[in-house]
Amino acid sequence: MLKLPVDFTFNQSNLQDFLECPRRFYLGHVRRLLWPNREMSSESANQRRLQLGKTFHHLAQQKALGIADEKIQRQVATQSLEIQSWWQTFSEWWENSVNRDLNGDRYAETILTTGLSGSRLVAKYDLLVIHPEGDVTIFDWKTVTHPIPTKYLSQHVQSRVYPFVFSRAYAALLSGRKIAPEQVTMVYWFTADPFHPQRLTYHSRQYEVDEDYLIHLLTDILQRTDKDFPLTTNEKHCAHCVYRTYCDRRVSDKDEENRLDENDNPPLVFPEDWEQVSEINY
Ligand code: SF4
Repeated sequence: MLKLPVDFTFNQSNLQDFLECPRRFYLGHVRRLLWPNREMSSESANQRRLQLGKTFHHLAQQKALGIADEKIQRQVATQSLEIQSWWQTFSEWWENSVNRDLNGDRYAETILTTGLSGSRLVAKYDLLVIHPEGDVTIFDWKTVTHPIPTKYLSQHVQSRVYPFVFSRAYAALLSGRKIAPEQVTMVYWFTADPFHPQRLTYHSRQYEVDEDYLIHLLTDILQRTDKDFPLTTNEKHCAHCVYRTYCDRRVSDKDEENRLDENDNPPLVFPEDWEQVSEINY
């Protein structure tokens, strides 16, 4: 049986690591092995995008908390043109949505947790909006270079974990009140397509499927031994992994270009800057 660090919790980030590569999950989250990133020509560009994403999330958080626009705008003015452009369209979308999707009580950067398979499953939400009629919209800001079609988004473990944890933990957020899965919608908002957010509506059947799926997934991980975390057979997942040299998975810049060219058929290999905000800092 696997021995996890005492402060370990499951979240969409480490579950996605496991699904993409069991070895990455083991090295990163069980052994917590620090390993220097191999330099590639594309690496600094990726790091820059990650930093842009973090900056954008920080600004969006302030907006959701109700900090005055002038104050945020002063910060935006010191940022790159890319951030300024993102912020302009984000602000326009916000104004257009304030009486609809954003109408209600807003909770920014909220962490909710639920027990599952004897472990804790945690989700960190960019923005939760509890509408006057009781429905809820979960927003997730994405600064990836291309929007991901709904059919692929629905297969990502984040799209299972976020509404599932919310549906379970809602009572703790609002003093005992319950919510039906049908009242929960998850919205991915993309800087690359700001006026066409992708919506995934949750429902009871999906909740049951997700519960079953997540129980099996966590049980599978917990029942493994240290030797049961093989390297992925899909080497596309190695392209931006910090353990490339550790695993002796050499990825050429050409491989990387081919990977990024797959946007017409987005793969189930999600962009490396899919998560701009770490879920590990709890
Ligand atoms: S380099 Fe590849 S095989 Fe090794 S941990 Fe990373 S994704 Fe897995």
